Amino acid sequence: MTPSKKVITPRPLVVGNWKMHKTASDTRDLTQDIVKRVERVANIDMVICPPFTSLPAAHETLGRHSVIALGAQNMHAAKEGAFTGEISGPMLREFGVRYVILGHSERRQFDNETSEKVAAKAISAVGYHLRPIVCVGETLTQREADETTAVVESQIRSSLSGFPSEQIDELVVAYEPVWAIGTGKVATPRQAGEVHTKIRKLLIKIFGPKGSGIRILYGGSVKPENAAALMAEPDIDGALVGGASLDARAFFDIIEAARPTRASEHD
Ligand code: PEP
Repeated sequence: MTPSKKVITPRPLVVGNWKMHKTASDTRDLTQDIVKRVERVANIDMVICPPFTSLPAAHETLGRHSVIALGAQNMHAAKEGAFTGEISGPMLREFGVRYVILGHSERRQFDNETSEKVAAKAISAVGYHLRPIVCVGETLTQREADETTAVVESQIRSSLSGFPSEQIDELVVAYEPVWAIGTGKVATPRQAGEVHTKIRKLLIKIFGPKGSGIRILYGGSVKPENAAALMAEPDIDGALVGGASLDARAFFDIIEAARPTRASEHD
């Protein structure tokens, strides 16, 4: 498939999704290890998303001017209220959180996270100056039934319904084929690149030319060994990394693979 016509070349972004791993004290150790390795890395945005209970520890360890930003793995759309077990945007902001993963397939699968809920959360997130990372992706059954394009398009349209177009600079989309998450089965660069190009075209259709600046991350068993080939695809702007982000060395290697070859592009 021919790559989309990008008006804007987005700055690459690598996000580590720690899922339900690491206590607060483990978080201090891993954060320190990552910071040491990436301190001098430039021309790329980097984010770690520890569990809620580890956000204060990560925030403290990163300090105020860290090259690494902090992200959360979910949030509630409301500011406050009778929502037992939930966390709101303002609560995340208090701990320096700048990004929030929304609609991860594990939440869609196990926690009844619908695209309608994701849309409400994404709108709320930007209202609190949090950058939403909206996840979409097909299951293996859907891919085998040749439904990938339809599923991904429908998830994007409904997960971004009502999203304010003046805030699209804040938006990140992650394409994560469900069959590739935590399974060790990675989409080939061509398989991933094809879907990314379709997503880019759709974002341009929805938001106009500025849609070409929305970062589209690939996620699903990204490892140091496969990162460079995936990142070479023209419409892949970075990675959402699960398992490998728990290993500072592997996370650093993936970041290096995602950095632009022409450094001047993203100074
Ligand atoms: C993820 O958690 O979003 C993910 C892609 O996990 P993994 O890299 O382990 O497949």
